[in-house]
Amino acid sequence: MPAIRVLPPDLVNQIAAGEVIERPSSVVKELVENSLDAGAGRIEVDIEQGGARLIRVRDDGGGIPPEQLPLAVASHATSKIGSFDDLERVASMGFRGEALASVSSVARFALTSRTAGSDAAFRIEVDGGKVQAARPAQHPPGTSVEVRDLFYNVPARRKFLRAERTEFAHIDDLLKSLALARGDVEFRLSHNGRPVRVWKAARDEQAALARVAEVLGEDFPAQSLRIEQAAAGLRLSGWVGLPTASRAQADAQYFYVNGRLVRDRVVAHAVRQAYADVLFHGRHPAFVLYLELDPAGVDVNVHPAKHEVRFREQRLVHDFLFRSLHEALAQTRAGQVSSQAQ
Ligand code: ADP
Ligand code: MG
Repeated sequence: MPAIRVLPPDLVNQIAAGEVIERPSSVVKELVENSLDAGAGRIEVDIEQGGARLIRVRDDGGGIPPEQLPLAVASHATSKIGSFDDLERVASMGFRGEALASVSSVARFALTSRTAGSDAAFRIEVDGGKVQAARPAQHPPGTSVEVRDLFYNVPARRKFLRAERTEFAHIDDLLKSLALARGDVEFRLSHNGRPVRVWKAARDEQAALARVAEVLGEDFPAQSLRIEQAAAGLRLSGWVGLPTASRAQADAQYFYVNGRLVRDRVVAHAVRQAYADVLFHGRHPAFVLYLELDPAGVDVNVHPAKHEVRFREQRLVHDFLFRSLHEALAQTRAGQVSSQAQ
């Protein structure tokens, strides 16, 4: 047996990248989440060739001071947590300090940034894990990240990239879910130089609902009920589709926990039960729901891509969701009964 050795850092990062960077849309997710964490009010995503050639995310957030640029791409380096306590109550999208290190180890990478108070921008480039020194650049306040030739140095992964339009469709779906998560932020998406989506920041509930309609279909607002419930430190808001808005596929279900889109067993079960007696077998409800609770009540450190969470009080969350949705949907049952009685 060969002797045990510590792996070189760029190999460690490539291995870590294997966990979170599955395809171009995973890169977009990490970059846009960073922009949101930086307090951006406007985020632009430019894609070329489904992301295989270029992924560029530009924001007007807080920026990174030049001396910290190398740290931003170092692994296990983050500005978002500093202790176990912070981890227990993390409210940002990121906290692992691994995304930029991972992405920059499997692509030709550049990070350009200017902080709000400064009149100069700086840029660093990383090529296959090799970090170049920061140099002055042109950039408005905020940050741009460019990721070119994703997986150029990981042929096995590059081979698994699907057709351009398939990869772009994943990115488009992801942007939809992020746009629904943050109605207050402007998002723009372009592909091969053509604007594909423009979501202006929604200033009121009507504008928020217009954004929902763009993602779930123009019919959705008229076929949904507004939800607004709070109890025991839990707050649920959003829109649940009436049975008429149900679909053959579960492809219009957006459930956010503290701003994070999650797939969760407890949530799925509560929703299924709430709809059980208003939906036909094989039909799937459409909904956009936002659950907010104290960050200490939910563990987001379950999965590297953070699609999963674990509630500390599962029963409480389950019953709150079930009751809130069941009550709202009960109106539709009553409505059905009276319309049948007529
Ligand atoms: P994490 O988000 O888990 O902290 P990342 O590798 O994604 O780790 O980013 C590392 C650090 O780089 C962040 O903690 C943040 O300080 C900084 N950073 C990354 N992207 C941006 C951005 N768009 N604007 C401002 N700072 C950023
Ligand atoms: Mg991050």
